[in-house]
Parts: sequence; structure tokens; C-alpha cells
Amino acid sequence: FARPWTFVRGMAQANDLPPIAGTIEVAFAGRSNVGKSSLINALTGQQGLARTSNTPGRTQELNLFRPEVDAGLLLVDMPGYGYAEAPKDKVDVWNALIRAYLRGRPNLRRVYVLIDARHGLKKNDEDVLTLLDKAAVSYQIVLTKADKLKPGGIDKVLAEIAERIRKRPAAFPEILATSSEKGAGVDDLRAAISRLLAG
Ligand code: GDP
Repeated sequence: FARPWTFVRGMAQANDLPPIAGTIEVAFAGRSNVGKSSLINALTGQQGLARTSNTPGRTQELNLFRPEVDAGLLLVDMPGYGYAEAPKDKVDVWNALIRAYLRGRPNLRRVYVLIDARHGLKKNDEDVLTLLDKAAVSYQIVLTKADKLKPGGIDKVLAEIAERIRKRPAAFPEILATSSEKGAGVDDLRAAISRLLAG
């Protein structure tokens, strides 16, 4: 996780960039406004790496980041989903892009599915989990904005989601709670990614 990190490129098509030999990838998915950009910035220790406010133009691209040196790792920022007003054809574009990406990515080790701690799992989150289960891509749930809940509230959400993913085949059972604002859980997530790199 050595800085500086750089933006590699955006991919509007899943095959815009073939997997890079010797590089592993982890991807981040979540509903728009879940705090994905903030978490990527917190993880890399680099404010402004992923933008903290999505403009519609870039929302349908996969954005790739890597450290400038020792580039054995790619972070992949998936386009946010679940805009309240998203027309069906936009949802279809998202699904097609993500399906194609998941298919062509042997280096992809894990997808971190970000869930707003206040909102829990929504229908479109469940749809994404199903997509990942079907593609047999390992994923882990990461709660964001944990600072907005009391500790007891977090425990309740953790238990609720744990129960709901229990039978999902590709789900990693442990759920992480993070706050980009306060820094909570960010080290744990970084450590989890480092373990994937090591193993
Ligand atoms: P994205 O659309 O998923 O990339 O979400 P952003 O990272 O742009 O964050 C959306 C909004 O949530 C912004 O106003 C952030 O300041 C806010 N936000 C993000 N992370 C946190 C957090 O950990 N705690 C709190 N309280 N707010 C956060």
C-alpha cells in the first residue's frame, strides 16, 4: 500500500485492459453514495485519488488504480449502482459490464461489496451478491459510515447481514465495519487485502 497511487485508466468495456501478469486485483462495489470513493481514498491514504462525488459521466466505467512502485496490486473501483432514478437500460449496461469484467478476470481475488451501515442490504445489493455467487467470485461485505451508528446499532446490522449471507456460496463470512471519516476499520480492510496479496 505504498504511496503514491496512480489512476491507471477507466474501462468502459471490460476487455479494455487485459489482466496484468503478476498483478492481483481487488474490486469495490456499492450503491451510489455508499462512500466507496472515500474508502478508497482512506485505504490508499490519498485524498482525491477516487473522486468523492460521482458525476454521471464516469459512473459507467471501471476505474483502475495501482501503486506507482511495487505494482503487484490493482484496485478496481466499480461503477456505483442503484441510483433511484436509474432507467432500466442503465442497469442493463451496468450488469453487462460487470458480468463481462467478472468473466475475464482470473487475477480478481475478491470483490468488496460496500453497504451503508445505516441502510443494510437492499434489493439491488442482493442482486449484486447473486451475480457474484453465480460468477463464483469471492466477495466480502464491508459496512461504511459506521460512525453514523452507535456500537449496538452496528452489532445489530452485522448480525442481520451475517444471517442473510450465510447460505451464499461465494460470501466470505466475516463482515468488516469501517468509517472513512474516523478511520475505524480501515487498517483491518488494508490488512485483509494484504493477506490476499501474500497468499
Ligand atoms: P461514493 O458515491 O460511493 O463514491 O460515495 P462518496 O465517497 O462520494 O461519499 C458519499 C457521501 O458520504 C459524501 O458526502 C461523504 O462525505 C460521505 N461519507 C463517506 N464516507 C463516510 C464515512 O465514513 N462517514 C460519514 N459520516 N460520511 C461518509
